Amino acid sequence: MKSFARGAWTAILWMWASPATLLGLSAGCIGLLMGGAAQRRGHVLEFHGGFARWVLECMPNGQFVLAMTLGHTILGKTDAALDITRDHEMVHVRQYERWGPLFLPAYLLASLWLWLAGRDAYRDNPFERDAYDVSDPGDCNAEE
Ligand SMILES: [Zn+2]
Repeated sequence: MKSFARGAWTAILWMWASPATLLGLSAGCIGLLMGGAAQRRGHVLEFHGGFARWVLECMPNGQFVLAMTLGHTILGKTDAALDITRDHEMVHVRQYERWGPLFLPAYLLASLWLWLAGRDAYRDNPFERDAYDVSDPGDCNAEE
């Protein structure tokens, strides 16, 4: 009975985060057609190379972007990039599970608010600060 409840809860979390997951699945599947690869890590699908790499390189400061989470999918430039960023990106997966379809608008509004206030739209974003607290707890910049 306990495993049924856990499975039901996992299904609810998947549905709640599904709008962003569908974006990630779309990009990942296009990436597979363009020479990319995929792997499953727990309840998350990771894609790297191909279109996933191209999408990341097209982002602002894309040369520095190693990976990006969309719901229960993570896009990475390479397999090694996914290994490096996994702890950080898994925090974002949990944020998607908490915020569901509100995560992307909330993230973007927080970045816009910070940018208008003259702060760093990425590093000062509370969603990123939470992720860096886990993935890079010794980083002084994450604590500013
Ligand atoms: Zn992040």
